[in-house]
Amino acid sequence: MKVKIKKLIDLQDCDLRIADVRDKKEQGPINVLRLEEGLIAFENKLKDELERLDAYKQEGRKIDREIEDIDSQIEKSNNKLSNIKSNKEYSAALKELDELKRIKSLSEDKGLDIMEELEVLESGCVESKAKMKKLKKDVEKDRDKIMEEMKALEREFKRLEKERVSLGKTIDEDLLKKYDFLRERKGGIVVSPVIKGVCQACHLDIPPQRFNEVIRGDKLMTCPNCIRIIYWGEDEIFKNDAAAGESGKE
Ligand SMILES: [Zn+2]
Repeated sequence: MKVKIKKLIDLQDCDLRIADVRDKKEQGPINVLRLEEGLIAFENKLKDELERLDAYKQEGRKIDREIEDIDSQIEKSNNKLSNIKSNKEYSAALKELDELKRIKSLSEDKGLDIMEELEVLESGCVESKAKMKKLKKDVEKDRDKIMEEMKALEREFKRLEKERVSLGKTIDEDLLKKYDFLRERKGGIVVSPVIKGVCQACHLDIPPQRFNEVIRGDKLMTCPNCIRIIYWGEDEIFKNDAAAGESGKE
């Protein structure tokens, strides 16, 4: 029986490695997606910055046109002023001119504010574009790395599947059926060592009578609590495999 159990442990070890490789394989596309999402988020941020820059540029051009417009009005006002004869008309035109100058000064202040903001936005955009370029490169590199890993995992997966088939062939059909049945229900650990009378999968005590039978190891034993196949983990023949069984989950 011990030899049969040892083979089951090898099979379980192979199954656990297959599950691990499968998990990693499934994680690959998720990681690629995460990378791409990060890139898209940054692209959108850059797009917003460029749109804002554009809006400010337009605003700047609008102010420039306003100032040009006011300038031509001021010129007209000045011309009018030189042709005026009456004092009353003169002071009215002067008032109009002052008002135009006041408006022009306001527009110029606004223009300066926009210029300052534009400088900040422009250097921000330059910085973001550089970051974007680097990020794109990094994402490409990381994606290639993940794809390479995926290929390696696929090879490992195929190799393990073959190994699983040949291991399965070394195990009695009935025992293999029981193992597969338990694996479907329990997942992960199916064959568990018993150490100091405790099942290492469910961590409950095995009754002394049953534990004695486990120690003898001449027939197939199961844990009365978790129904997993159990063996005496302190037996020299299993010592090297005990660690694999201990890391199992309930
Ligand atoms: Zn148990």
